[in-house]
Formats: sequence, C-alpha cells, structure tokens
Amino acid sequence: MTAPLCRLCSAELRRTFVDLGMSPPCESYLAADQLDAGETFYPLHVRVCEQCLLVQLPVHVSAEDIFSDYAYFSSYSDSWVRHARDFVDLAQARLGLDRDSFVVEVASNDGYLLQHSVAKGIRSLGIEPAANVAEAAVARGVPTEVLFLGEETGRKVAEIHGRADLVVANNVFAHVPDIVDFARGLRALVAEDGHVTIEIPHLLRLIEGNEYDTIYHEHFSYLSLLTTQRVLAEAGLTVVDVQELSSHGGSLRTWSAPTERAGAPTGAVAKVLADEAAAGLDTVDGHAGFAERVSRARDDFVEFLVGERRAGRRVAAYGAPGKGNTLLNHCGVRGDLISFAVDRNPHKHGRFLPGTHIPISPVERLADERPDTIVVMPWNLRTEITHQLEYTREWGARLVVALPHLEVF
Ligand SMILES: [Zn+2]
Repeated sequence: MTAPLCRLCSAELRRTFVDLGMSPPCESYLAADQLDAGETFYPLHVRVCEQCLLVQLPVHVSAEDIFSDYAYFSSYSDSWVRHARDFVDLAQARLGLDRDSFVVEVASNDGYLLQHSVAKGIRSLGIEPAANVAEAAVARGVPTEVLFLGEETGRKVAEIHGRADLVVANNVFAHVPDIVDFARGLRALVAEDGHVTIEIPHLLRLIEGNEYDTIYHEHFSYLSLLTTQRVLAEAGLTVVDVQELSSHGGSLRTWSAPTERAGAPTGAVAKVLADEAAAGLDTVDGHAGFAERVSRARDDFVEFLVGERRAGRRVAAYGAPGKGNTLLNHCGVRGDLISFAVDRNPHKHGRFLPGTHIPISPVERLADERPDTIVVMPWNLRTEITHQLEYTREWGARLVVALPHLEVF
C-alpha cells in the first residue's frame, strides 16, 4: 500500500499521530428507515508529516459534499454572534478600519460576522460556498459571492471588488482540503498593506486536553502555530502576531501580512512557538504518546460502561453533538451500553446517531425514564450542563464525562 501524501509538502505520510479506526461522517444522523440499510464508514487515521510536521487527515469526503448545502447557520449560536461582534470591534480598533476600508470574510456563513462591519459602514464582502447559507447572508444585507476560495477564485474576486484591507478566515482553515491553494487565495484577496486573520483550533490544546473527539472527517488539518506559519509562507504570507483564545477548546487567532511588508513578528509569536517546542511539537517524535493516552481514555470509558451494565444500571447520554460521534464510534459503544441520547435541538429528535444507532430524544425523556447514569457528551460545557441537570440528582443520577479523562461526579 502506498502512503498518502502531505497536503503541504507532498512527502509520504508514514507516521501515525492517532488511528481512531473507521467512522461514518459525524453529522450523518440517520432516520428510522435508514437503520436497516448499509452505512459508509471512512478511516479516521491522522498522520504527522515527518518533513513539515503538519498533522492531517486525508480527504475521504469531498468538500462539495460537506459544504455545498451546509445546514449549519452560525447565527443560531448566541455566543458565536457575540464572539463575532467583539472580533469586528477589535479589528476596527487595531487596523483603524473606516468607511474607506474593505473587509472580506471567507466562509462567511449567514453573515453572522460581516453584519457587524456592514453596520459600521465598512464595505464588506462575504465568500461562502453553500448557496442556501449565502442567501441568508444577502437577506441580512451582507453582499456574498457563492464560491470555494482558491488562488484562481481569489484573483477573480479581487479583480471585481478590489483587494481588501482585512481578510478574515475564522474556523475554516483547518477544514479546507487544499490548504495551500486556499492560503494563496487569501494572499490574492489581501492588499499589499492589508492583513489576513485566521482562527484555528490549536493542536497544542487538543493534545494537552486529550480532545480527540475534535477529530472528524471534515477537520482535515490539526494546526500548530509552527505549521500554520509554514502553510502561509507557501502563499507569501507571514504571521506577525497571534492571540490565544478559549473558543473550541483552545484556539489561535493569527494575524499575517504579505511577506515583503510583514516586518518583525511580535513577542506573542515567539512565546507560542516556545510553548509548542516545550511540548515537543517542533519534532516528529514529540508527537508520539497522544495515541496511547487516547487508548487509555477509551479503555476507562468502555470499562465503566460495561460495569454499569453488569450492575444493572441504565445509562443515557446528554447531548448528541457531532463530535460525540467520534468518541462513541471509536469506543464501539452501541445501544446496549447507552440506551438513548437526549438533545435540545428538535431537528435531531426521532433520529439516530451515525454508526452507533443510539436513538435521540427530547430532554424530557430523562425525567420520564430516570436513568441511573448520564454521560455528558459536550464535556467542555460540563459546568453549564451540570446546572441544567441538577434535577436528575433527585433520583440519584450520576453524571459522567469521558474526556479529558473518565470522571464520575
Ligand atoms: Zn509535509
């Protein structure tokens, strides 16, 4: 078998970062009439490139399939809209954006972010591949081009609209299959004295927090600041500053500029690079050890669930987020170990988790059936959810998280 090739430097990918086995795409929830049909599973085998250190998952599901009719509207999340508004305020102050400025956002979704720059009178343009989502943006007054960004499309947009003082790519960089072509698209869009800002989940936090449930098929690259710099350098962009954010379990926001005019980076860049080096992320061997910790977390979780079953205790899951599916499929958990899941999203009710076929019900089912044990799937929202589930203590329910390590509380 030939090894897949690195999407940054084209070297053969021979080194495993973590192999989570086979899993269905994590957002492919099933209807009842699909349960007896076949289901497609794809490998979740993450590699680290020995040449450039980019941690990556080969593309199994095409970007067109994932993004063309995307069901996720960012504006449904209040905290996300707030995050976007704060970002626009910060960018305006930092770069001195005014009515003569031009801002482009890539993967602009339903205009959740650019609505704030439009409101400030700053000329704004969204680029969004999903036509149905772009329509929602246009309806709220955010001009949007429906396309995938690459070098060629970036040039076309710049010819029509001019080049931007600020190009924003928040939480899309890790999700594009051809990351170098995408970065070149960013370079084509930005003015010579402009800036590109990118938000990415930070590989360092993923490793430290054992956040392996953030690995799924649509998440192609797992980036450090070091590898982000390398990708951007291929496109003629240099990172000049970085901020560490708490979103998505720990993210980086990088600020870059065209290399010819970038100047010296801030001390924050050196600091994050030093943190990464201290964790070993500047060498291939420094990436070892994660797979073993993931296996241990799985062993503990499965052992716990089997123990609950043997003791005659019934287990339910709270929350049916896409990322929970990586965990459940990797652990081989089925309906015999977790009877049902509940979720607040009505679109998921009556459907089944991909691969594991665990049924999803409204939250009220907890009070009706009083399970003995409740696994909190979005473990990063543990404090908030523990408050919401206070009433389950009435019948003595125990709450559990599987990550960063198994904990009953
Ligand atoms: Zn490489």
